[in-house]
Amino acid sequence: AADVVPQAPEDPLFGLMAAYRRDEDPNKVDLGIGAYRDDNAKPWVLPVVKKADELLRADPNLNHEYLPIAGLAEFTSASQKLIFGASSPVISEGRAISLQTISGTGAVHLGALFLSKFYNPSASGAKTVYVSNPTWANHNQIFSNVGLPIAQYPYFSKETKGLDFAGMRSTIESAPEGSIILLHACAHNPTGVDPTQDQWKELATLMKQKSHFPFFDCAYQGFASGDLNRDAWAIRYFVEQGFELLVAQSYAKNFGLYGERAGCFHFVTSPGAEAKDTVSRVGSQLAILQRSEISNPPAYGARIASLVLNDADLFAQWEENLREMSGRIISMRQALKKHLDELKTPGTWDHIVDQIGMFSFTGLSEKQVLKIREEAHVYMTKNGRISMAGLNTKNVKYFAEAVDKVVRE
Ligand code: PMP
Repeated sequence: AADVVPQAPEDPLFGLMAAYRRDEDPNKVDLGIGAYRDDNAKPWVLPVVKKADELLRADPNLNHEYLPIAGLAEFTSASQKLIFGASSPVISEGRAISLQTISGTGAVHLGALFLSKFYNPSASGAKTVYVSNPTWANHNQIFSNVGLPIAQYPYFSKETKGLDFAGMRSTIESAPEGSIILLHACAHNPTGVDPTQDQWKELATLMKQKSHFPFFDCAYQGFASGDLNRDAWAIRYFVEQGFELLVAQSYAKNFGLYGERAGCFHFVTSPGAEAKDTVSRVGSQLAILQRSEISNPPAYGARIASLVLNDADLFAQWEENLREMSGRIISMRQALKKHLDELKTPGTWDHIVDQIGMFSFTGLSEKQVLKIREEAHVYMTKNGRISMAGLNTKNVKYFAEAVDKVVRE
């Protein structure tokens, strides 16, 4: 019977990583995967994570029992404080239910599964999920795998290499009432372009008018600007406006816990007398979905994050580590821009320093990307996205020269 299974294409990003590993050129540069690297192009274990790890291992009572279905309670409660703010009414009024998930991917998936089963927009009956064009490629698969139709809203302007706000706005405005709108909370992947606070406010007003349902994907809190509160601003603003909404929260990037799969899913309901009852009913269904999907989330990464999130001293050290990562990335943006300016590379490159977070959308064409890969052994995705963390003081000039060469050809 398996002869009916068609061959699927290789995941483009993980295929790119494999090609990079096979390349034997000593100057090769990996700008593909979105994982932080230090100035020596090495993975970086955050010093605060190392410390938390030592504390954990020294605990004689540590065991390998199952976590509860909803995960480690200290972890999910600290995750609520981190994303909504410690004094948020969402917490004091019991308006959120949170489950620990398999990192951000698992949180997006749990939200998608929940919506596919229970989302019931009153007016139009539409269950379409609107995602930005472009978006993190996995969004498309996650939502279509649970049977939710997907549509796109314009996001990136090729001309300005910034936000196409007019396009985004008008598509969200004309979407059927009650549509699900997926939003990147900060440091948009793959473009590095975020709405301004005024634009977020306008989007909130519009989405209220249309009774759209916000689903925030937050994979870079603290990693984008180095400021945890600032990076959560959009979510907190929508919460203040009284929306019912979902949040997928990842600790992969901001704790460097990629492979440990630490994440959290939050359902938030609007203020009102029914809030507690809603949260209880939704929570009971989420627990069943979680049980059938993974039974219990993984313990190690959540224990590390929980230790740091719940200890003021470790938390302060974490913030310092975050500033080190975001600071190095910002300095690489400046260095790349400076080298391109010095080379008088044709085109404008302000977007390199204007964009934020892990990625930059260079504006290089697929043809140019493939040429740079072939000639300079620099690996980036075909859409011209580079992971800024792959640049360092030793290779940034080399990369600028490769870009300069290819845009002049
Ligand atoms: N959403 C976005 C937009 C991302 O960029 C990522 C990380 N690549 C994720 C979610 C989730 O990643 P993870 O499952 O590793 O937390």
